[in-house]
Amino acid sequence: AKTQQRAGHFYFTRNMGVEIRERVRMMHALRTAFSKHELFLAYQPQIDLATRRAVGAEALLRWRAADGRFVPPDRFIPIAEYSGLIIDIGEWVLRTACAELVRLRAAGHHEFTMSINVSQVQFRHPQFLQVLRNALADTGAPPRHVELEITESMAMEEPDTFIEMLAQVKETGVHIAIDDFGTGFSSLSHLQRLRLDRLKIDRAFVTEISGASRGSSIAEMVIQLGRNLGLSVVAEGVEDELQARVLQQLGCPLAQGFLFARPMAAGDLYGWLASQPAQ
Ligand code: C2E
Ligand code: CA
Ligand code: CA
Ligand code: CA
Repeated sequence: AKTQQRAGHFYFTRNMGVEIRERVRMMHALRTAFSKHELFLAYQPQIDLATRRAVGAEALLRWRAADGRFVPPDRFIPIAEYSGLIIDIGEWVLRTACAELVRLRAAGHHEFTMSINVSQVQFRHPQFLQVLRNALADTGAPPRHVELEITESMAMEEPDTFIEMLAQVKETGVHIAIDDFGTGFSSLSHLQRLRLDRLKIDRAFVTEISGASRGSSIAEMVIQLGRNLGLSVVAEGVEDELQARVLQQLGCPLAQGFLFARPMAAGDLYGWLASQPAQ
C-alpha cells in the first residue's frame, strides 16, 4: 500500500484502508478465539541426531478459526503483538507448555525439555519476569527443562537493557535459545556477552543443504560458533535424510523438522513418543 503525504497529513490509499480493516477484523477474531479457548499448542519433537531419539519439543501456537481453517502464526502473531494481546496469549502459552512438560515427566519422559517461543513484546513487558516465575511455580515445571526461544533480532537491539533482562531471566534457571540464528547481524563479541545456552540454525540455511551442494556454509559456521562458545545447536526445518546426515557430520547435535515429525497436538505426542524405538 502506498501513502501520499501532503501538508503534514497522510492520505491513505484505498488498499491501505482495506489492510487496516482486515487487521482490525483479525484482532477482534483473535481476541474472541483466545477468550473461547480456541487457541492450542502443537508440539514438534526435537531429535538427538546421534541416537535419533526425541529429547524435547517446541511448543507452537495454533489457531483454528471459526470457519475451520487454520490461521498461520506468522499472520496472527504480528497482530497479537501490535494489539498487545500477545501479553495474555504469551502467558497462556508459557503456562500451557510448562504444564505439558510436567505431564510428560509424569509419563516417564524425565529428560525432556520444552522449548517455548517468546515474543519480544512479551519479553520486554515489565511483568514478564513475574509471569515466568509464576508459570514455573504454579505448574511445578523444572526450570532447567524449560527453554525460551527468542529471536536473534531481539537479542541485538538495545544490547544493555537486553543483557540485564536476560541475566534476571536466567536466574530463574530456564535456558535461552536464539531462534532463527544466522538471519540477523550478531557480532561475536556481543554473543559472548549474552549468557545463552543454544543457537537454532534458521531453516533457510538447512534447506540449502541438498544433493547438489553439501550446502550451507552458514549452517557449518553456526555449528562451529556454537562449539566455540560452548553452546548447544539445533537445526530446524530438516526435511530429508541427507540434511540430517550432513548436519550430523558437521557436528550438529540436535535437529527438528518434518523428516522426524510435524508439530502435533499434545494428545498425539504421547503416542508418537511411545512408538519410537526403545533406548
Ligand atoms: P519458528 O519459531 O521459527 O518455528 C518454526 C516453524 O517452522 C514452525 O512454523 C514449524 O511448524 C515450521 N517447521 C518445522 N519443521 C519444519 C520443516 O521441516 N519444514 C518446514 N517447511 N517448516 C517446518 P509455525 O508453527 O507456522 O510457526 C511460525 C512462527 O510463528 C514461528 O517460527 C514463531 O516465530 C511463531 N510462533 C509460533 N508459536 C509461537 C508462540 O507460541 N509464541 C510466539 N511469540 N511466536 C510463535
Ligand atoms: Ca521457534
Ligand atoms: Ca526458527
Ligand atoms: Ca521463524
